[in-house]
Amino acid sequence: MAEIKRIAVLTSGGDAPGMNAAIRAVVRTSLAEGIDVFGITNGYEGLISGEIMPLSRRSVSNLLQRGGTFLKTSRCESFEHEAGRKRAADVLKEWNIDGLVVIGGDGSFHGAHALYLEQKTNVIGIPGTIDNDIYGTDLTIGYDTAVSTALDSIDKIRDTAASHNRLFIVEVMGRHAGFIALESGICGGAEEILVPETKKTMEDLGGLIKTWARTGKTSSLIVVAEGDELGNAHDIAKEIHTRFHIDCHVCVLGHTQRGGSPTSTDRLLASRLGYHSVLALKDGKTDIMVGWMNNAISYVPLPETWEKKKPLDEELLKIYRILSL
Ligand code: ADP
Repeated sequence: MAEIKRIAVLTSGGDAPGMNAAIRAVVRTSLAEGIDVFGITNGYEGLISGEIMPLSRRSVSNLLQRGGTFLKTSRCESFEHEAGRKRAADVLKEWNIDGLVVIGGDGSFHGAHALYLEQKTNVIGIPGTIDNDIYGTDLTIGYDTAVSTALDSIDKIRDTAASHNRLFIVEVMGRHAGFIALESGICGGAEEILVPETKKTMEDLGGLIKTWARTGKTSSLIVVAEGDELGNAHDIAKEIHTRFHIDCHVCVLGHTQRGGSPTSTDRLLASRLGYHSVLALKDGKTDIMVGWMNNAISYVPLPETWEKKKPLDEELLKIYRILSL
């Protein structure tokens, strides 16, 4: 690979707290390495339409602690087609950009990989998604903050559930993965955790509710990931009422989990991955994700990040029942 002299960075797909910290790290590492660095606004949409600007060290001042992404993000239909990606590659060529850092989730990685395959663009992915559902990295940027936000709400709901002897269902984000539900559920002492990775039935729930009553519990909390096969929190509450004649209160946490100031864990992760993404490009690496696995930087071919499935922690799935009864 020819020497890397100009790098561009963009954020794509769902925003996640810590994306700003990652951009900051990419910018300042590039400049420290003598590489010019450019920001692309509005993700792949902005790349196709040429929304590119040079970034300086001062462009990323006072961003480390801010949620969201100052480069903005988007979902871009035309990037899913070869013609859109060809236009994107042409824009990068016009700007003499030698490497592109894409901060996003698995959809964004699909796009980056296609750009590499068809246009030979050097791409590096940084995992930025609150869902943590990317293989090859123990953590994704934004996940730890989302869990913290969910847990803060769960603790508050627990207070009111206990005071009123109520059963609450808290719905957290996770359309295809239960990482947020499992971790916030364990830490919030949830009596039941429903995630897409496990198959449970309404009969199972009915049995559990009886057990809670038998063991003297006067209030309980079920945490459900939005993509659970039993339905969303409202569906499940309705079903519990119909089948077991128990009133169930619902709280859907929604987009609060996507915002807010990133935790120290997310800032640390974003700083590390941003730094190593630039060094990886400089080193001639391309078509990979820079992640964090077993306390070390990992370099994972982009297709592996979505072809292999990151499992939930089996032990946590087992112990929450024991600990919450
Ligand atoms: P995330 O990156 O958070 O998973 P999305 O799945 O919405 O978010 O993907 C973000 C963008 O990545 C899409 O709007 C599209 O431009 C691009 N993308 C997603 N899937 C593909 C694909 N299969 N091929 C090419 N580009 C894709």
